[in-house]
Amino acid sequence: MKKCVNLKENLADCPCTYPSCPRKGMCCECLRHHLKAEELPACCFPLEIEKTFDRSIEKFIEIHKA
Ligand code: SF4
Repeated sequence: MKKCVNLKENLADCPCTYPSCPRKGMCCECLRHHLKAEELPACCFPLEIEKTFDRSIEKFIEIHKA
C-alpha cells in the first residue's frame, strides 16, 4: 500500500470510527475497498449511522429517501 501525500489532512477530516483500519486517511484505498464490497466509505454517512458500521449502499439509499 502506498503512502498518501494528503494523509494528515485526510485523517483530520475522516469521521470513521472503525478501529485500526489500515486504510484510514487514504481515501482512494478506502473508496476502492468499500466499492469492491458494494459499500460506501464512512464519510458518506451521518455520524449515528457511521457508528453502526453499516456501509451498505442500501443503507445510504434508505437514509436519503425523501
Ligand atoms: S471507511 Fe472503511 S476503509 Fe475507510 S477508514 Fe473507515 S473502515 Fe477503513
